[in-house]
Amino acid sequence: MPDFSGVSDVDSSSSATENPQFVDRFSRKFYYLRLSITDVCNFKCTYCLPDGYHPTGKKNSSFLNQAEIKRIVHAFADCGTTKVRITGGEPTLRKDFNDIVASVAQTSGITKVATTTNGYRMAKQVGDWKEAGLTHINVSVDSLDPRLFHQITGENKFHDVMTGIDRAFEVGYQQVKVNVVLLKQFNGHALPSFLNWIKDRPIQLRFIELMQTGEMDELFQQQHQSGVSIRNHLIANGWLLKVKEANDGPAQVFVHPDYQGEIGLIMPYEKGFCETCNRLRVSATGKLHLCLFGEEGVELRDLLQQDEQEKDLIARIQGALDTKSVSHFLQEGKTGMTPHLASIGG
Ligand code: SAM
Ligand code: SF4
Repeated sequence: MPDFSGVSDVDSSSSATENPQFVDRFSRKFYYLRLSITDVCNFKCTYCLPDGYHPTGKKNSSFLNQAEIKRIVHAFADCGTTKVRITGGEPTLRKDFNDIVASVAQTSGITKVATTTNGYRMAKQVGDWKEAGLTHINVSVDSLDPRLFHQITGENKFHDVMTGIDRAFEVGYQQVKVNVVLLKQFNGHALPSFLNWIKDRPIQLRFIELMQTGEMDELFQQQHQSGVSIRNHLIANGWLLKVKEANDGPAQVFVHPDYQGEIGLIMPYEKGFCETCNRLRVSATGKLHLCLFGEEGVELRDLLQQDEQEKDLIARIQGALDTKSVSHFLQEGKTGMTPHLASIGG
């Protein structure tokens, strides 16, 4: 972990050189773009869209088209990004999802193309995703109990999602990541069954602490559970922390010789979480978000209309990066402008 004790301003003028690299005032380099391609979702997760998706009706709220997506990814790749996660809302609801995957995968410099999905379409389509060039899949499964799964997501689709995971292995994925949002009442005691599930499956199961968003009120107080007790349990039972790669996400990943699967912990409330931040976000309508919990977002869309605008686009992104805060300040109860994670892609 880098030493942030003497956090100081550094020269970020690399943007002016031939091969710029996105870097902020705290020397954090950005290798990882999380790109939302839609806000729309067909699930109603209690912590995200409990009333389902409703269009905002705002002006200029159409989602980025393929040409705009291509230009964004190209600019990021030219500035050191090697990994792109296509997210949402539910990204796979877009009819041109495969084309978007293919275009990202064909961008020079991008070595990892990931998506985060609720798994609704996975059983039928995962073969096509693989063919299009999708290298990594995260699927959300908050409970292994079909009844609780239905309660959390509003959809009775547990078995379809499980079939989708099996199918992903059949079409050649070596590992599937499964996201589990820690919810005290629903899965707070489910560690043994999750561990049992990954014993003989190459699944990286990632427990994500519930993050408080703008539209979340009592739910956070009722359901938030820290990942510390899980980490203590893992360490006490012989699990070992894995070393990270530069474009890896924020999870602390643990491995165990008796398990084919791995356990990841994403603990945004833990001190130091932001020190290794290596990712930037672009919303489905083309706004740059420096942090999941930042403010309004920086408009990029006017600079996505022609290939020739890339230089200006890069300058605007780097200019915004020069204002990126050292931390999300979530611990102080600040949720920023993010109403729910479907709005800018979790
Ligand atoms: N619809 C896709 C899905 O659910 O996987 C992708 C978008 S979703 C916003 C991305 C991830 O964020 C999911 O794993 C979801 O469980 C997680 N998420 C959503 N709201 C959250 C919150 N308030 N706190 C923590 N994780 C959250
Ligand atoms: Fe949809 Fe994902 Fe939000 Fe659930 S977490 S409502 S699947 S966007």
